[in-house]
Amino acid sequence: PVLRVAIMGLGGYASRVAEAMQSCKRAKITGLISGTPAKLQEWGAKYNVPEKNRYNYENFDNIKDNPDIDAVYVITPNALHHDQVIRVAKAGKHAISEKPMALNAKEGQEMVDACASAGVKLLVGYRMHFEPKTLEVIRMRQAGELGKILFFQGQCGFRIGDPSQWRLNKALAGGGSMMDIGIYAINGARYMVGEEPVWVTAQETKTDTIKFKEGVDETIQFQLGFPSGAVASCLSTYNMNYLDRFFLNGEKGFAELQPSTGYGPIKGRTNKGELTQPHETHQTRQMDEMAGIILDGNKPVVPVDGLEGVRDLKIIDAIYAACASGQRQDLNT
Ligand code: NAD
Repeated sequence: PVLRVAIMGLGGYASRVAEAMQSCKRAKITGLISGTPAKLQEWGAKYNVPEKNRYNYENFDNIKDNPDIDAVYVITPNALHHDQVIRVAKAGKHAISEKPMALNAKEGQEMVDACASAGVKLLVGYRMHFEPKTLEVIRMRQAGELGKILFFQGQCGFRIGDPSQWRLNKALAGGGSMMDIGIYAINGARYMVGEEPVWVTAQETKTDTIKFKEGVDETIQFQLGFPSGAVASCLSTYNMNYLDRFFLNGEKGFAELQPSTGYGPIKGRTNKGELTQPHETHQTRQMDEMAGIILDGNKPVVPVDGLEGVRDLKIIDAIYAACASGQRQDLNT
């Protein structure tokens, strides 16, 4: 069977996902949800989605009566994911939420609970969890080829443009670079080191208080400590380009990915040489894999379920608390 997906929020990233899904073997677009009638018409024609499977933000709860739709992929601004995913769950459909799944861990947990009590699955759009070079580094680490892991470095950022966009609006974004791009360094630290951090320290710097208003972080450096004693040192920013790099260091070897989380191709090498796993469009692979998770109960090497999203949000909560207080935050995971 094929996973029949309704896409909610027909913006920039949704366009990329929709194009990539044209090459999927196990997932296809069968529904659309948008507040803009013209977009519903245009996308409906382009992707062959009949009018009866097109919804707006007022009436999408009716999706519960639509047998053509198995799952809804929520690709709207961050602040909306929480309520929208809960409505999807109440409509009895599986939910895929874009990252960050919510604005904080409490909201994320509410989404996990709502999906659990509705008996539907909740996945988060962590496309890197299916990326072949990333998975090869994880395989090497798990096989002991890198030895005991000692250090991870994650640098994630770009110079953000238009100051009026929702990404720079705290109410819609929930923060700044950390919510959007820094989350890749957090998530990456966890899947590269293969442990959950037990403490966080963080420092915020801001060079432009007009563009980056109160509560919208421009640059945050943060450090994580892991139970084994491994440490991570990371940077999240909306003010530097060419910042997309992971470095993993172990007693017997290293792995370096650059770019590490962009749309690819991902490039990388280890102490054994260049990584040569072939590139596949991330969103194509993600949606085929997610179909297997939802329809067949497949277990991915790196989870993409709601709890995985909550784990990242707990760390983001702690990073913001560390920036505000100047104090190290202990995480009880
Ligand atoms: P975007 O601004 O291009 O699209 C957002 C869409 O949401 C627009 O079509 C907009 O009309 C719609 N929308 C609905 N209600 C809205 C409201 N109240 N205010 C503003 N817009 C509203 O943004 P995007 O880049 O597509 O990002 C959407 C989500 O996807 C974000 O959560 C983002 O973090 C995530 N994203 C993930 C990746 C990835 O690689 N996984 C990449 C880009 C974006």
